[in-house]
Amino acid sequence: MKLRIFTMSIISVLISISCIEQKTATEIIPIQDNPNPRTMARGLFPEAPDSLISALGLEDGIPSSVCAFLAKADGKNILFDAANGAPDSRLMHVLDSCEVSAEGVDYIFITHLHGDHIGGLLKEGVAVFSDADLYINEVEYNAWKENDGLRAVAKAYGSRLKTFSVTDKLPCGIEAIEAYGHTAGHTAYKLGESLIVGDIMHGVALQLEYPQYSARFDMDKDKAVETRKTIMKMARDNGLTVYGMHFPAPYYIR
Ligand SMILES: [Zn+2]
Repeated sequence: MKLRIFTMSIISVLISISCIEQKTATEIIPIQDNPNPRTMARGLFPEAPDSLISALGLEDGIPSSVCAFLAKADGKNILFDAANGAPDSRLMHVLDSCEVSAEGVDYIFITHLHGDHIGGLLKEGVAVFSDADLYINEVEYNAWKENDGLRAVAKAYGSRLKTFSVTDKLPCGIEAIEAYGHTAGHTAYKLGESLIVGDIMHGVALQLEYPQYSARFDMDKDKAVETRKTIMKMARDNGLTVYGMHFPAPYYIR
């Protein structure tokens, strides 16, 4: 698997950022939000022993990214997370290259409410995606109810913010899957043969083979370990392609 990821990474470096070339068989389009390469610092994985980190060649950090994903299903444009919303964000640029305007986004599904996933929802307090319905797992919503970031999003999106339970029927046949641990209501989404897993891994090159090591960001580390194992087993057993918001290029594992 390691070799495969490495090979895929090399290939992805060779492809350009245009929409067509980033399309995969499942019509999930990765949107790398950060313009420059990113790594997660080795220190974010304090439990991983130095000997393992150097055996994997990860002393200088673990390849990473900040991603959102665009999907097209049933004639709808669907966004999974909205990335950082930083001044150098590539989100709108990539949507534009896919001929999707901000108003043309129909649904947004949020994996969890950290700033690098919801920052792009707002610009100066106003909803960027003015016609989109915004879906948030009620467990995650309730855990962050008092948070200023969520309050601002709720104010801007008003009745278009929909909370749901993982057993609810969602638009376009999307299934929500509990992926709790990183945050209280962290949620993965299945669309066809694709599984969008949010932040179940921050350092794929380490955690794919060694899921027992959590990043400092995981709020409940034991639960995060369990979730990592369960979700990746589900993907393997069902032949799903796994897309992660902090996976390095090409942003998925097949
Ligand atoms: Zn994140």
